[in-house]
Amino acid sequence: MRKPFVAGNWKMHGSKAMIASLINDLSRAWQQGDKVDVAVCPPFVYIDYVQRTLNNPAIKVGAQNMAAEPEYGAFTGEVSAPMLKEFDCRYVILGHSERRSLFGEDDDLIARKVEVALNARLTPILCVGETLEERDAGITEQVIERQLQAVIDRVGGDAFADIVVAYEPVWAIGTGKTASPEQAQAVHAFIRDKIRLLSAEAADDMIIQYGGSVKPGNAMELFSQPDIDGGLIGGASLVADDFLAICNAA
Ligand code: 13P
Repeated sequence: MRKPFVAGNWKMHGSKAMIASLINDLSRAWQQGDKVDVAVCPPFVYIDYVQRTLNNPAIKVGAQNMAAEPEYGAFTGEVSAPMLKEFDCRYVILGHSERRSLFGEDDDLIARKVEVALNARLTPILCVGETLEERDAGITEQVIERQLQAVIDRVGGDAFADIVVAYEPVWAIGTGKTASPEQAQAVHAFIRDKIRLLSAEAADDMIIQYGGSVKPGNAMELFSQPDIDGGLIGGASLVADDFLAICNAA
């Protein structure tokens, strides 16, 4: 069956000293690579440093964003898929709600990035999720559907076998509020069912992570839901003991 996958999204956190200590602790302690896939996603400038500090092949590295342009060119401030590949990135987080809300990324741009990542053989971690207003208005499924559809229109349903989807309700990110296991499971099942209409195989293989205030104390209950295949972890991924506890819960 699906191998659970836990990734740490460090966001704009870290320093060389902090990363050396965190990576040393994770490298030394993480021993269940055969049961759970684990990745850390540092800010771009630290990717190489993390790779050189890591001493555990079971911990992979990902980026938090990527250009929608496939190769290179006059795109000041951007980082391309081949650049991430050259530094052994396995994953790239795309469409995080912070990118959508703070940096104006829309569904079409995110879909183009997903296509570029897939063509470069990077695994996209495609984030979807509704705001509190959208949940209260009863349109959670419509929002998720729209976010998924933009990607489906560009890469098709079969491609989801190679895409990790992260369901991250915006109201649960960094707020200490977590979706209940039942709330999260309902949306995860909705996502899987939507892909199943296009490709049963992709639906069965697709990893769907939950993200939003996952902590050691709530990880086990969330991950025990049938359609929750691990987590995308923000704040708790910056503390080695917490991140390891969450990885072990998966
Ligand atoms: P927190 O775990 O800090 O709520 O962040 C979740 C997140 O945004 C991961 O991408």
